[in-house]
Amino acid sequence: MRLISLVFAFLALSSFSSAANSAAKNGADKTTDNAQDNIVILLSWDGMRHDFPDRGDYPALKRMEREGIRAGRLTPVYLSNTFPGHVSLATGAEPNVHGIVDNVFYDREKGLYAYSGDADWLNAEPLWITAERQGVKTATYFWVGSESDWRGQGTSYRMAPFDGWRSEADKVDKIIEWLDLPETDRPGLIVSYWSGADTVAHMKGPDHVDIAEKISDQDEELGRLLSAIDTRNLWSRTTLVIVSDHGMTEVTESVEIKTALEAAGLDVRVTGGSAAQHLFLNRVQDRQAVLKVLAMQPHIQVLEGDQIPTTLAAPNRTGDIVVTTTPPYTFSRAEKFLDKAIVFFSPLLSWSKGSHGYDPALPDMGGIFFAMGNGVTKGKQIEAVHQLEVAPTVTRLLGINPPANASRAGISLD
Ligand SMILES: [Zn+2]
Repeated sequence: MRLISLVFAFLALSSFSSAANSAAKNGADKTTDNAQDNIVILLSWDGMRHDFPDRGDYPALKRMEREGIRAGRLTPVYLSNTFPGHVSLATGAEPNVHGIVDNVFYDREKGLYAYSGDADWLNAEPLWITAERQGVKTATYFWVGSESDWRGQGTSYRMAPFDGWRSEADKVDKIIEWLDLPETDRPGLIVSYWSGADTVAHMKGPDHVDIAEKISDQDEELGRLLSAIDTRNLWSRTTLVIVSDHGMTEVTESVEIKTALEAAGLDVRVTGGSAAQHLFLNRVQDRQAVLKVLAMQPHIQVLEGDQIPTTLAAPNRTGDIVVTTTPPYTFSRAEKFLDKAIVFFSPLLSWSKGSHGYDPALPDMGGIFFAMGNGVTKGKQIEAVHQLEVAPTVTRLLGINPPANASRAGISLD
């Protein structure tokens, strides 16, 4: 079982139009009191579905809900996966604009993108660059696109490269260290990626009891951060925001297209993740033959041209054909023997596991949004927020203009 678990851990890692720009600019008009001196801490908890905070007794999250705001749901972008989501959170732009269309994708000029630490893959400006450009010092402790300079511009403080084993305790220690810097050196914006509930929910399914325990660990560290802000009397000039990249739904069967294409002798590059696969034809004359093979595969939708959702249609990064699936099905890449075994056995064993990447309108794809501190009205009711509204919210709290490609206004928190 251990090998199988490792494979699922790998799968977990791998599964990871809007208002005009003027709206985003309007959102920046109304600033928080003393916004220029404000400190914004933005945390993302991977794979935290909107209802996961109700899985147990989490004192720190409860306190944020009590003393601040908890939105009913955060609607992700499409694909509702880790990399597109985090980059949309940071840029306020749709995936086709910022270019990170999935966790793994192919670019016709640059080649394969798979967890690259090179921020220049991003076609839109992330928050920390927006802030530095406007004179706000920033600190990043892991976030997709934060591990290197972006177009020659860096951050004042950066933890890199990404290390999935780094504990949240270490991250909180570092954040507190940054808060304790002298006024002139202290960052105004701190962003940090936390592991959340993602891995356990992928491996054991979104209803497994172990999820509660994992959230408890994260909550304990959040509690430490809240206490650190308390003891430093910083709430009058600090806003803490917690979001997630996507939710999680139960999947019971893997689907796979590559084997059938290979068996038909078709030369096609297939890249993608749990919910969508891009097919790049190496020989254009194969199109009809490829479509014929795909038409015989169950549980998939085959999209071409205008049928391909806008947010997947990034220049150079969109396949000639895009194939999607819906829960309870999930794509497996089936490049290794074990993957193939899983594809074969999973329906027989009724394995339950978690996945995401699907239509953001599905209730299970919704994430979390919490905010507390300066500029946040205690107990304000907010039904739903959108991932694209987070970046302009953060910049408003800092009293600066939103990222250049932000497409929506910020969330009204006061
Ligand atoms: Zn995931």
